[in-house]
Amino acid sequence: MQKSVRADRAVMQKSVRAGRAVMQKNVRVRRADGCREDFMKYIDLHSDTFTMLHYPKEDLLDNKRMVSIPALQDGEAWIQCFSAFVPTGYFPHLCRDAFVWKRFCDIADKKDALLEHHSDVLVPVESWADVERLAGQQKAGERRTEAEKTDVERQNVERCTEAEKTDMERLAEQQKAGETGALEDPAAETRKDSGKIGVIFTGEDLGVIGSDLRKLDTVYQRGVRIATLTWNHENAIGFPNSAKPQVMQAPLKPFGTETVEKMNELGIVIDVSHLSDGGFWDVAHVSSKPFIATHSNSREITNNPRNLTDAMIKAIAKRGGVIGINFAPQFLSGRGDDTSRIRDILRHIRHIRNVGGSDVLAIGTDFDGIRGHLEIDSPAKMPLLAHVLTKCGMKESELEKIFYKNALRVFREVWREK
Ligand SMILES: [Zn+2]
Repeated sequence: MQKSVRADRAVMQKSVRAGRAVMQKNVRVRRADGCREDFMKYIDLHSDTFTMLHYPKEDLLDNKRMVSIPALQDGEAWIQCFSAFVPTGYFPHLCRDAFVWKRFCDIADKKDALLEHHSDVLVPVESWADVERLAGQQKAGERRTEAEKTDVERQNVERCTEAEKTDMERLAEQQKAGETGALEDPAAETRKDSGKIGVIFTGEDLGVIGSDLRKLDTVYQRGVRIATLTWNHENAIGFPNSAKPQVMQAPLKPFGTETVEKMNELGIVIDVSHLSDGGFWDVAHVSSKPFIATHSNSREITNNPRNLTDAMIKAIAKRGGVIGINFAPQFLSGRGDDTSRIRDILRHIRHIRNVGGSDVLAIGTDFDGIRGHLEIDSPAKMPLLAHVLTKCGMKESELEKIFYKNALRVFREVWREK
């Protein structure tokens, strides 16, 4: 056992060293290669960046946070979720409802301002039609101007073997033939939007609605499409995960059941990260739609109440939901140090895959909500994870599921069409 762990570690360390250089090369080749889809694109189900940017009035283009626009672009991010994180239990009890609601609205305003200010790079994703538009823009982005195409293809052909050269020439001919109709293509106008990054606005602690279900309609109107029911405190909906058994076993409150039903009706994906175990099983019982844990790992691998038991992993999988792997050191390993290691991310991925199958896995980094020394501490380093997983024998089809396809399946199921 020790030997295999050491061997595993050695392989990983070698991959990490090699990965940094090789991935850069791979990404460049893939970008230049018009006939291949770039599998490095990914969806990250959880970050706290918008909330963190709100108070110091920072921007997304140039900041000292983990997530910035350049980092998202470098890492091949496709869709990034940004939460309105409002830890409702921290606010004074007497005027809590007004305080937390104002805070939620402030962060939603910040989100709107950032989206408007960076509309050349970012697009809101609030419906399945938005996903399709974004996918269309991505495809359009892969098309290049004739001058760029000629240059790229010339470089590629120089690198190719004779057999590949024939393929490349055939591809060039096909693309040229396709170009004839390009002027009449209705998507042509959107090509200037190539390479945009989708933004999903999420809620962390639906306690912001107090016990007023009408506010959930406003939460939806403000763009929230995924939301946790609690953070680490009790609210009108239910109880948080906890080391105390009486809290951990506490069920959803009656208002929590109504909230779950209303989320199903509106098309807001229910996020069980941070929820008590008792609340989890109530959601599994009440929700008519797939539900997800945006940023939680395996409790069997790391015994932390924020992580999910094997029974929970199976329940989420059975309902068609997903689990976003969290990069926080304390949820990845029980060692008690503050290092988030790729090899621990792999341990959780392997275990969750063994228990729930590869259709249940997704990514939920928790960037800007976590601290410590992180081997992957920015979207810019996400290709490294793809590389390491590939080196460890994961098939490209499985990697695609983890990186974006599984999450898309849930959005398709839960969200409104338009
Ligand atoms: Zn969280």
